[in-house]
Amino acid sequence: MNKPVLPNSVEARDIAFHLHSQTNPQLIEERGPTVITRGEGVRIHDNAGKVYIDAMAGLWCASLGFSNERLAAAATRQYAQLGFYHTFFNRTMEGAATLAEKLVGLTGIKDGKAYFATSGSEANETMVKLAWVYHTVRGKPTKRKVIARDRAFHGSTIAAASMCGLGFMHREFGLPLPGFLHTLCPYPYRGMLEGEDEAAFVTRLVDELEKLILREGPDSIAAFIAEPINAGGGIIVPPRDYFARVQQVLKKYDILFLDDEIVCGFGRTGNWFGKETVGASPDMMSLAKGLSSSYFPISAVVVAPAIYEAVKEFNKAGGNFGHGFTNSGHPVGVAVALEAISIYEEMNLIEHVRKMGARLRGHFERIGAASPIVGEVRGAGLMLGIELVADKASRAPLDPHLQAGMQFDAIAWENGMVARCMGDVLGFSPPLIVEEADVDEIAERCETSLKQLEARLGFAR
Ligand code: PLP
Repeated sequence: MNKPVLPNSVEARDIAFHLHSQTNPQLIEERGPTVITRGEGVRIHDNAGKVYIDAMAGLWCASLGFSNERLAAAATRQYAQLGFYHTFFNRTMEGAATLAEKLVGLTGIKDGKAYFATSGSEANETMVKLAWVYHTVRGKPTKRKVIARDRAFHGSTIAAASMCGLGFMHREFGLPLPGFLHTLCPYPYRGMLEGEDEAAFVTRLVDELEKLILREGPDSIAAFIAEPINAGGGIIVPPRDYFARVQQVLKKYDILFLDDEIVCGFGRTGNWFGKETVGASPDMMSLAKGLSSSYFPISAVVVAPAIYEAVKEFNKAGGNFGHGFTNSGHPVGVAVALEAISIYEEMNLIEHVRKMGARLRGHFERIGAASPIVGEVRGAGLMLGIELVADKASRAPLDPHLQAGMQFDAIAWENGMVARCMGDVLGFSPPLIVEEADVDEIAERCETSLKQLEARLGFAR
């Protein structure tokens, strides 16, 4: 960071030719990009030879770390046998059938079917299109609108971005599209009113949702989409009962529940899927990231039988399901995902995540108790957040101009740790293969960085 950019270096060519995702163009021109050169377990190296422990698994995704040889070998084997084929026009491959069977089994959607895509955004868009088919076939073609929640993140393609409840995903593009609505986020730490307990808070959220449905007209609403635990909005854990009560309302108005498991899936929250952690029963689930540990861009949607039956019914005169991506069910992605799932099963993933998650959380709670600016430690499994505040008792936020979260990330980076703030919430979502020593190292670097941040901001212990 902030080192001189030499002519014709990777940094210089990157500045010259590369438009980056989620990056400020002016800042990258001034400071230059950070060049990552290799991975080693839960660590990454930059081109100056510095090593960082990645406490975010990249983008909540590299569950098996950055150098898994079994995943590399699975890809190599598959490339040698069949480097590409597609799944249009009745074609399939053994791996696609096996992975579909595996995903239906793991998700517990009885008699369900799995659809393959290549990104989380595509999987979420697929769920919306399937919701439209479902209602159309049942004689309710006006059910088109989708309700998401404030602070949600569901991806970057047009409908997925419209479902986001974050202004920075909308402002350049004139989004959300009409028909994509937002309701309150179940964010107890910031959303509960004075004197309100959790039960009353949930009642208010559910009432708001119902009011929105009635205002728009139940006949216009196709689906509700949510992450079990909201990752990118600030690791927000809903109160107990939230999903059960939301689902009662959805059922009443014949609205499908779309479960975005793109971050929460595959063990992240200490269960195979986040829906188990929060007690939800979706009609469809979108999966990506941990599905292949992000060693290949593959995603999936698992749907309840009624959704599949609707697609079948719609096309009973002989048409094809009018949806598909060139790389849906790509044989290499499928091989990598199957290998990742085998590793998860062999490593006893759920027990491991619960153990490591409890250890990391214990460290964070101790660190938080001693810090004047930690308001709350929250999360589940290995998906933890630390919310920074100006005053612990009143929960008064820090002045946003201080950009305390961003400052923490920069300090942590200097201290050899990749962290990721969401505003003033510090996010931690390390590779699921972390061992005790890694967890202790993350906690130690977090504590050191937090103390440095407090000193910079003028808070005394
Ligand atoms: N849904 C959630 C919860 C995510 O966190 C993300 C990406 O971070 C997405 C969807 C979009 O996935 P992708 O970037 O693969 O399109």
